Amino acid sequence: MEFSALAESMSALESTTSRNEMVEIIAQLFKKLDAQDIRRAVYLLQGLVAPPYAGIEVGLGEKLVEEAIAKATGYSEKEIEREYVKAGDLGNVAEKLCESKKQTALFSQELTIEKVYSTFYKIATLSGHGSQDAKISMLAELLNNALPIEARYITRFPIGRLRLGVGDPTVLDALSFMHKGDKSDRERIESAYNKCSDLGLIAESYARGPASMDKFAMHPLVPVRPALAERLPSAEEIKDKLGECIVEAKYDGFRLQCHKKGDKVEIFSRRLERVTDMLPEIVDAVRKELECNEVIFEGEALAYNEATGEFYSFQQTIQRKRKHGVAEKAVEMPLRLFAFDLLYIDGKDISSYPFKERRKKLEALLKKRGTILPSESYRAKSSAEIESHFEDFVSRGLEGLVAKDMNAPYTTGARKFAWIKLKRSYRSELSDTIDVVVVGYYAGRGARARFKFGGVLGAVYDTHTDTFQTICKVGSGFSEEQMAVLQKKLDVIKTARPNARINSLIKPTYWVEPKYVITVAADEITRSPIHTCAKEGDSPGYALRFPRIIGELREDKRPEDATTVDEILDLFKMQRRADIVGPADG
Ligand code: ATP
Repeated sequence: MEFSALAESMSALESTTSRNEMVEIIAQLFKKLDAQDIRRAVYLLQGLVAPPYAGIEVGLGEKLVEEAIAKATGYSEKEIEREYVKAGDLGNVAEKLCESKKQTALFSQELTIEKVYSTFYKIATLSGHGSQDAKISMLAELLNNALPIEARYITRFPIGRLRLGVGDPTVLDALSFMHKGDKSDRERIESAYNKCSDLGLIAESYARGPASMDKFAMHPLVPVRPALAERLPSAEEIKDKLGECIVEAKYDGFRLQCHKKGDKVEIFSRRLERVTDMLPEIVDAVRKELECNEVIFEGEALAYNEATGEFYSFQQTIQRKRKHGVAEKAVEMPLRLFAFDLLYIDGKDISSYPFKERRKKLEALLKKRGTILPSESYRAKSSAEIESHFEDFVSRGLEGLVAKDMNAPYTTGARKFAWIKLKRSYRSELSDTIDVVVVGYYAGRGARARFKFGGVLGAVYDTHTDTFQTICKVGSGFSEEQMAVLQKKLDVIKTARPNARINSLIKPTYWVEPKYVITVAADEITRSPIHTCAKEGDSPGYALRFPRIIGELREDKRPEDATTVDEILDLFKMQRRADIVGPADG
């Protein structure tokens, strides 16, 4: 199919303000395409050429793209730069210059989705001597053949500025609409997606035949979408929900999904990005410490100071990685990996086994106890037992506990009551911290004017509507350095209009593409007429009181991994209960 069909849809996506319309636009596009083009379109719409776990990125610098535009249009790079300063968007510049090319190509061909996709794939994977020039030529060839509207997106794509904000749930809904005319197949498609984490592959298979969705299986080296935990405020409520359960230490490190197939090992982060090369000591341990040929298991990694017996938190561990070379620090402060679930072993997907059986197999696998250790885990029959483990964990500096339903399967890609977290922060005046998506930012005023940065507009994620609903404006907690770094990052993703998935009554100075997640602490959750979090009709929404940023950007979370609206409602209820009962002792 011609690339122009995709470019027209991208243009329609850019100008809509409704998320339902986004689904409709994409479903209509899918109806026109064959299965292979649907796969290509899914990647391209999300600014990708392969699933994120493959780590294949196009990532061309603006300078190179300007060179390609010059080559294709006959304008000089100086002229292009001048236009860029005026328009502020290289895509619009390319579009305009393509309308008035100084030179016309001798042979021009209509671009197809296949041609554009395969060219970008080649650009992403080409390396070595002379590859830079080859990349410029390939891009120039595309631009040479492009209609002006096509040139807009062909230019934005390699510099990471598509800004269409097409999230996974939007694509999943659009696929279901393509065949069913409604969302009724969404769950079925999503459960296949949970097992392979490749939305392009899922889209192609679904287009070939919806029945293929029921045959997807887990495979080592291909990441699985992770299970998530619910929250409850007390040991009693956990006991009431689960009965006898398994309680585990909640480590405040970073979550890793480890895969091994023969000698090949791959490690994925919580957001399923490939982090294998950053963790040589874990890779080595997965290879040497486990007596099995194939495995998928999960754990929490933390830096550990052998001399003091001290564990470091997520933030401290990340800083350790940034400040010091990976190799030197691995010796002084080695990472430990606390394994907490086993999903696949030697040819068998065991994710549907009851947790107590998966745990038994996990412990049997970890006999060596070197870098990889089983998470600390106990059976608890009563709320008193749960409480006493909680106190023990907290007294040793851990974050709290995760209680697990002994009989539940592994719930891929979902926040379910199979896991319930109880954190020490629930016992203090603040409830849990909130991870918000930055959807806009403010120009600085007064003392901040010199930074041109006055804080961000934060939103939480509504899983039901796949939208971002505002919950706070937060301007404190940043250091000057952090402000400067954040503003630079946000400047790159500014948009003229709010993305259709942003639901806001407030207008910040600048809108940005929902991309970055930051952690915010607050005094409490209050009702507010100006924020859209869980706002229905004329009744007020929910807001954070005295919000402040803590820590760095949560680069391990995608916007859809931010705190959800349902979680905010649960936290609000927990807070009301705490008000009535008074602060818990301990
Ligand atoms: P948080 O910021 O509270 O860790 P989260 O949004 O990252 O929350 P949740 O699914 O809500 O993730 O909480 C479970 C998280 O706790 C897991 O993602 C994992 O990283 C971490 N964790 C630490 N110890 C354990 C454990 N023993 N079992 C399961 N998860 C654990």
